[in-house]
Amino acid sequence: MDGECIFCKIVDKEGPADIVYEDESVLAFKDINPKAPVHILVIPKKHIGSLLDLEEADEEVIGRIYLVCKRLAGEMGIDKGFRVVVNCGPGAGQSVHHLHFHLLGGRPLRWPPG
Ligand code: AMP
Repeated sequence: MDGECIFCKIVDKEGPADIVYEDESVLAFKDINPKAPVHILVIPKKHIGSLLDLEEADEEVIGRIYLVCKRLAGEMGIDKGFRVVVNCGPGAGQSVHHLHFHLLGGRPLRWPPG
């Protein structure tokens, strides 16, 4: 838990969020500024700043996050085409320093991303 981290506050239910999935190590909630009809953020409950801060011990939770993405893609009806994106560092537009996986779908997704 990082006291200044907005996503840690959501994990601790100290900040508002539209939560769509929760288990012991993973939380998923709707992005407040959606970039697609379905835009969910899937995060480890543990505070991990970015992909660069991952440790060997985090291997299990990262696998779990992908399983949650698969589950939510089915539940949200986007399993015919969706994208999972992690922005890492300011050069890639990371604005919240708590690792999060964007689950995006519900519209055509162009490639390559900008
Ligand atoms: P990134 O730019 O990759 O760090 O993504 C951060 C995402 O978090 C953005 O898409 C924001 O819209 C989203 N976001 C920031 N604050 C909140 C919040 N309180 N609840 C839900 N989504 C948020």
